[in-house]
Amino acid sequence: MTERTRILIAGAGIGGLALAQALRRDGFDVAVYERDATPTSRNQGYRLHLDANGNAALRTCLPAASLDVVRRTSAVNGDLVAAYNQRLEQVSAQVFPGVSSDEITHVDRDTFRRSLFTGLADAVHFARTVTGYRITASGRVRVRFAEGGSDEGDLLVGADGSGSAVRAQLLPHATVRDLGLRCLYGRMPIDETTDPLIPEDFNRGFCWVAGDNGYGAGFAPVRFRFPSGEARDYLMTTLVAKSEFLSPRDDQDLRRIAVDATAGWHPTVRRLFEHADAGTFFPITIRASEVVGAWSTGPVTLLGDAIHTMPPTGGVGANTALQDAATLSGELRSAAHGEKSLHEAVAAYERVMLPRGFATIENSLRMADQIFRA
Ligand SMILES: Cc1cc2nc3c(=O)[nH]c(=O)nc-3n(C[C@H](O)[C@H](O)[C@H](O)COP(=O)(O)OP(=O)(O)OC[C@H]3O[C@@H](n4cnc5c(N)ncnc54)[C@H](O)[C@@H]3O)c2cc1C
Repeated sequence: MTERTRILIAGAGIGGLALAQALRRDGFDVAVYERDATPTSRNQGYRLHLDANGNAALRTCLPAASLDVVRRTSAVNGDLVAAYNQRLEQVSAQVFPGVSSDEITHVDRDTFRRSLFTGLADAVHFARTVTGYRITASGRVRVRFAEGGSDEGDLLVGADGSGSAVRAQLLPHATVRDLGLRCLYGRMPIDETTDPLIPEDFNRGFCWVAGDNGYGAGFAPVRFRFPSGEARDYLMTTLVAKSEFLSPRDDQDLRRIAVDATAGWHPTVRRLFEHADAGTFFPITIRASEVVGAWSTGPVTLLGDAIHTMPPTGGVGANTALQDAATLSGELRSAAHGEKSLHEAVAAYERVMLPRGFATIENSLRMADQIFRA
């Protein structure tokens, strides 16, 4: 394996970009292919929680300059995860004291993703939808795009999210299950009118309110360390329920659904939804990958949601994608140093990534089950 081994990455999401950052730094020839036309053409969500694993992976993957951008554009750290009943009586709380400001516990997803593009302008190609690949006679991989054209490399990494086209070809038997849970995500801008509406605890981390009527609501603040014109503080709001309670249609006012669902609860909750920006609401179907066994290692592998989609109940999907990027980049670096072949490096990555990813899904499913047992 030479220093200029060419790695193709399908998907400029969180995992794909973190991997590209590490590979670029380590001297690989990297090309990332992203189906979206621009980094901001699609709303991918709001606040993400990063844990110790995600932080460690970021430190492993990112050159100092990129990590600095991520840190500067992140949100003020939180120290609380708590649950309440619909009367806003606390039923459980976990406090995480003394998180250093070097750690990043909250990010705005779009801002985070844009920070991960730092230094990668010439490596990321937008409006390139990967549709499939073929293994060449020399054992390399040629990937093709819906928009036309193709590219060839030594390794293709499918980091193309839960609907992965790369997974569909590599593991046609792999399935992603609809868990029968639906979410409405939205944002309440924090300003002088809305700030006083936010209960003190809701400013400290993720707060979950469980209703008696089959709905649950989650809230978490994003207060940027350095607010700017683009980076405006907000409270993430989410309404979650089984699909028999919540099946939003395109023509519905999604914020109104959240306001109505919480009508009989403590008035604070309803007020937060009432002050949310109606245009920021969008629905999500919650899914989880079914376990797949190891496959025969070749010049194509998978990373993040492409192989282990999980419900957001654990708040760890992005953290796990970052861990994958850290593990894979470490293995590829060993291969570049001549310590193993490219094939051995990918096999070693898959041996770690697969059990870790599916154990994390198990955990997230257990948490979803606890929340929605009723
Ligand atoms: C509502 C919600 C809240 C969440 N909260 C958290 C949280 O707090 N903490 C946490 O750790 N995780 C959270 N997650 C999970 C987290 O968002 C995902 O696990 C994470 O984004 C996975 O990263 P990824 O790089 O694998 O995929 P993605 O970030 O989904 O990136 C995939 C990329 O591939 C691109 N793409 C797709 N198909 C193609 C194609 N055919 N060709 C080219 N490009 C393609 C997409 O446009 C996208 O840019 C949450 C998820 C949801 C839905």
